[in-house]
Parts: sequence; C-alpha cells; structure tokens
Amino acid sequence: MIDFQKLADKYQTPLYVYDFNKMSESFNELKEAFKGRKSLMCFAVKSNSNLSVIKHFASLGAGADCVSIGEVKRAKLAGIEAYKIIFSGVGKRDDEIKEALEIGILYINVESEAELKRVEAIAKQMQIVARISVRVNPNIDPKTHPYISTGLHGNKFGVDLASAKRMYIDAKNSEFLDPIGIHFHIGSQLTDLVPIYEASEIVADLVRSLSALDINLKFFDVGGGLGVKYDDEILIPPYDYAQAILTTLKALDITVIGEPGRFLTANAGYFVTTVLYEKQNDEKRFVIVDGAMNDLLRPSLYKAYHKITTFKDGKTSKADIVGPVCESGDYFAKDCELPKLEHNDLVIVESAGAYGFTMASNYNTRGRSAEVAVEDGEDRLIRKREKFDDLIELEKEFI
Ligand SMILES: *Cc1c(COP(=O)(O)O)cnc(C)c1O
Repeated sequence: MIDFQKLADKYQTPLYVYDFNKMSESFNELKEAFKGRKSLMCFAVKSNSNLSVIKHFASLGAGADCVSIGEVKRAKLAGIEAYKIIFSGVGKRDDEIKEALEIGILYINVESEAELKRVEAIAKQMQIVARISVRVNPNIDPKTHPYISTGLHGNKFGVDLASAKRMYIDAKNSEFLDPIGIHFHIGSQLTDLVPIYEASEIVADLVRSLSALDINLKFFDVGGGLGVKYDDEILIPPYDYAQAILTTLKALDITVIGEPGRFLTANAGYFVTTVLYEKQNDEKRFVIVDGAMNDLLRPSLYKAYHKITTFKDGKTSKADIVGPVCESGDYFAKDCELPKLEHNDLVIVESAGAYGFTMASNYNTRGRSAEVAVEDGEDRLIRKREKFDDLIELEKEFI
C-alpha cells in the first residue's frame, strides 16, 4: 500500500503518483495474452507522456504509439528504438512527416488519401521509401462514450474499406512507399468484446484480399482502447481480448501490434490533493481541495467518474469535491459520501494515471503538479512541480 501522507509531506500537493510495479504487471499480462504469436505492444504515449514512464515501458520491451512528432521525440529520448515507434493521427504537418522519416520509425499510420500523397511527395523529396500502414475505419460501434468512439463513419478517423484498398494499390505502385501494416482503433475504454472481434474480422478479411493482390502486410495493428476499472465496469480479460483477435487472423503470418494506453497506466496512477476547507450552503456541501480541473480534466471533459479515497472515519454525508478554478465544471466528484474533512486532510482521486497529467494545463496560472514514481517500495520524483517563473518564461521578455 502506498503511503500517500508520506508522499504528500515530501513532495507537497497536488501530486500525481504512479505505481510502476502495477504498470509492469499490466504490461506483462497483455504481452502474455498474445504469446504464441509475434507481437509488439506499443505504449500509447498520449495517455501518460512522462519520460520516466515511457522509459519504464521501454525497459519492458514496449514500443510507442505516438500522435505528434513531439511524442515521437519523447519516445526516442526515453529509449524506445526507432523501429518500435509508430506515428498515428488524423493530421500531420509536412515537417512532422519529414522528421519521422528521418528518424526511421517503424511506420507512419496514414489516415486519408490526401495524407498518403503528402507522405509520398515528402519521401520522394528525400529519395527514400516510407513505410506506411493505413488506418481503416471499420464502421463498428464500440459502445463506449461518444467522445472516445473513433471507429464509426461519423468519426474523423481512418478511411473506409474501399478507399483503404485503393490506397494500398497506390502505395504498392509507388517507388517511394512501402505498405507494411494495417491499423484500426475503434475507441477507448472498451468493455465489450464483440465490436473488437467484428472490427478485427473485417480488417483481417481486407488483409487476405490484399494478399490476393500480392500486397503482403507484416503488421496487424489492433489499436488500443482496452477498458479499465473506474467504477464497477465489467472488463474484458486480456486473454479473451487476444483470443478474439487471433481467431480472426487464422493462418495469416502477421505480427500483431497493440497500442494500449489507458490499460497500462490508468489504474496505476493516483492524483493526490489536499483539503483546503469545507463549505456548506442551504442545498449543498462542498469539499474544496487544492487540485483542480487544470490538473485532472476528465470529470469536467467527459463527466468521467473517479473513485475517491479519504483517510477519515465517522459519519458520512454527500458532498461535491471541487477545485479552486473559476468554472462550475471544476470538480472531481459529485454527491460523494464523505466523512467530515478538515484543512490538510488528503483526498485521493483514483485511476488517474491515464489522460491525467497529459491533459493538464496552466489555466488560472496554476503550475502543473509534480509527478512521483513508486517502485519496489521506493519513491522518486519524475517531474518537478512547475513554478511561477516557469509559467512566464516565454512571455516575460516582451513586456
Ligand atoms: C488514443 C489512442 C490509443 C490509446 O487508447 P487507450 O484507450 O488509452 O488504450 C491507441 N491508438 C490510437 C490510434 C489512439 O488514438
């Protein structure tokens, strides 16, 4: 059990705490589920981009799934080999494509015919061959929150099957493109296996029909999206997830690539915040804490639920846990049963390791939290708390 009081005393709050042992367990569980088949798990860096977190996954053999050149450079810097890095995303600038090609990443995940043309033109200028995969939108409803659903034709991601086929034929006929992979990612926080199976089957059929055209892909990239426990969700066991995908591949000799983000980091992270005071009006009780929506946006952005832990006993009553930011949407929990809390008591927001710090901002000129790793019973700082001077650094010369 992590001693949050000790960490709060040592590093102050608000604070992100990551359990690196838990991250290892989740990684190994997923990797193990695909055993018997060549596989590469590319950590979705956008879920938690701290260099020490990426380095930790690198040490376990992970690759990286990146959605900007900044993430590609983070992954490289943290020790992930270029040949294990994928660059995805619905819009990439020319300079990002060029730099990714210079670094020599595994492949660029192309999301439109226009983008394929850009990649080809840039590879031609550089007189190199660009390895690509095409992101297919299989038009499957993942049955998750609409904001994190990505595999329907109403979403901006990927291309339909007919376009994908054309793109592979164009790529095969180009001197400067080498189509080596195929990709789909139907959404995030998936808790239903059927849509994953259906999407995988559609995409595997496309792989077989491409093979008939002598386009032989090496990588079957199933994206990320595996759900985690925030509340009382019933989860897909990683083994069943892997089996559902492998079943659709049958005899295809192809390496499976996964892009897990949340699954590896969400439950390993805690957002630690301190009570400033309580406030009661004739309708409601509020617990005001030192963390805010600029630190952890998910409740405000998605109405996401996070479990709350406190260390006080006694009679409970309902309260909203809110931060100091000037927005009514600035809260971590609503109508949460809580004991009476006092100045300096800790409030832990659980399952905050994914899309927590990476979505943090400096709104209200609040410095972003420090980040701490806990591993084998030891704790260490992995990002300093931002100070006022850090926030004005890029402006102060202009006044
Ligand atoms: C966001 C994203 C992921 C990771 O999703 P999780 O739900 O965190 O596993 C993987 N692949 C792509 C293309 C993504 O956009």
